[in-house]
Amino acid sequence: MTVGVLALQGDYSEHIGILNTLKVKAAEVRTPADLKHVQKLIIPGGESTTIASLLETTGLRKAIISRARKGTLTIFGTCAGAILLARKVSGKNVPPTLGLLNMKIERNAFGSQLQSFEAHLNIKGLQDPMVVSFIRAPRITKTGWRVEVLASHDGYPVLVRKGKILAGTFHPELRGGTEIHRLFLKMK
Ligand code: GLN
Repeated sequence: MTVGVLALQGDYSEHIGILNTLKVKAAEVRTPADLKHVQKLIIPGGESTTIASLLETTGLRKAIISRARKGTLTIFGTCAGAILLARKVSGKNVPPTLGLLNMKIERNAFGSQLQSFEAHLNIKGLQDPMVVSFIRAPRITKTGWRVEVLASHDGYPVLVRKGKILAGTFHPELRGGTEIHRLFLKMK
């Protein structure tokens, strides 16, 4: 199995680092041709507006949607990546998304960079709490049918899953913890 990491903008090298720690074959994905070689894809945090426009110009937007609809791609979106997976986005400068997960999410819901924070999350299926970073994080304001909430913070879902799609509003890769990546690797 090869895990692709969308490498257009944002935190992709940190995700590759975690996959290397886990001794999983990882590949940077920049084109639809790269996507053909991967069974899983991580969409990293970064700037959702920038990543959205690069998804369009590279042709990856259509390619990812098509693989997801065929059920041949398992996807983990983190922070900006979660925004890009959502069917509905609120806030300023809403980017066009992949629309693969029926939830509503608000961009920059906590304000500026200064409102970034860390939190201990209790995650369904994991024994110990994990420390993760919320950086200009979005907030999931609504989850649709059959979207399972795996972790919440302050009463809002922060890690959700539906079928082959996992989305978290935080950065799981910055503190070196590997638990959520392992959870994603187990997803079928
Ligand atoms: N604020 C960013 C956006 O809306 C997301 C922040 C992040 O990925 N750390 O695109």
